[in-house]
Amino acid sequence: MNSKCLDQEVNRTKEAEVGEALPNPESLAPMLVEIICERAHCVIYEYAIVTVKFVADEFKGRVKVKPVVRRGSKKNVDRYLELCRMNGQHLSVPAILMGGKLVFTYVPGIEDLRRAMEENLQETGVSKRIKDNLWQVGGSELTDSADAAVYLIWFGDKAALVDSGCGQGHLRLRKHIDECLPPGVQLEYLLLTHCHFDHAGGAAAVRMALGCRIVAHELDAVYLEAGDSEVTAASWYGARLEPLMVDIKLHGHESTLTIGDGSVTAIHWPGHSPGSVVYTTNIHGQLVLFGQDVHGPIHPALLSDEKHYQASLAKLIDLEADILLEGHYGIFWTKEEVREFIQSFMK
Ligand SMILES: [Zn+2]
Repeated sequence: MNSKCLDQEVNRTKEAEVGEALPNPESLAPMLVEIICERAHCVIYEYAIVTVKFVADEFKGRVKVKPVVRRGSKKNVDRYLELCRMNGQHLSVPAILMGGKLVFTYVPGIEDLRRAMEENLQETGVSKRIKDNLWQVGGSELTDSADAAVYLIWFGDKAALVDSGCGQGHLRLRKHIDECLPPGVQLEYLLLTHCHFDHAGGAAAVRMALGCRIVAHELDAVYLEAGDSEVTAASWYGARLEPLMVDIKLHGHESTLTIGDGSVTAIHWPGHSPGSVVYTTNIHGQLVLFGQDVHGPIHPALLSDEKHYQASLAKLIDLEADILLEGHYGIFWTKEEVREFIQSFMK
């Protein structure tokens, strides 16, 4: 079996596991339109859902509609809270969100809904440029709703990917990497910030497809190599993590990796998980911080440690980064924004 076949096989298996058809590699990730409901099967919410679906049908697969029942299953409640955090406010019902962004707090007319979908579609599904050599190529709006952000960076003829997403949007991620990476630039490393499924679940498929080496801190590598679906939180996503061999294990507090004519520094950042790391790099005098789960959460099943986490947050502040690239909260563009965001989790 050649590598292409192997790659396709991996995807087929992964898609079969989540019970979805293999996505068309040409297609962009559909924009997720979510409707916050108080409970299922209530007239007002049914009306909102039917109206949104009616308009979404016109977009032929480019828009995916999903109700989020605020008093529903744990998955629904978790998503509701995540959307509240993403929008920086308590979301009332019924609320309509597009690509995670609050758009309506009522059920609008068909015309307004159509226009809003068109406008928001233009903003989603395409890679985001951060710097000429730094792009966001994956994330919940780009590749799969379960994905943490995925960033691509290159220096000269070598590149690195920071995290891989959960793997369910692998073909979309590949497409975005292909579109962003200049010809002749080779992906050398997949830098994992930690072992969690939404960051590392797609790592094996990325390595198989692109031939890069996987990097993780030794204290998280142990759970990846064991295929521990609890500590890696794969079970939270209804998935199973296959044992993942880590090619380069980071030890101790700090390591620097050369990438082409640049470099990235890994800093051990325990708390959210035992072997969490942040990566930093310097681009034209600006310190860029890849801090994928700065927000936590701190949870016993993840072997989190609140004391370590608080100490790690204080160390992050001391870095005085100019730009923070977060896994779930987006991009913070100034020193002040970065400091405020980190401080908001300090006790
Ligand atoms: Zn995490």
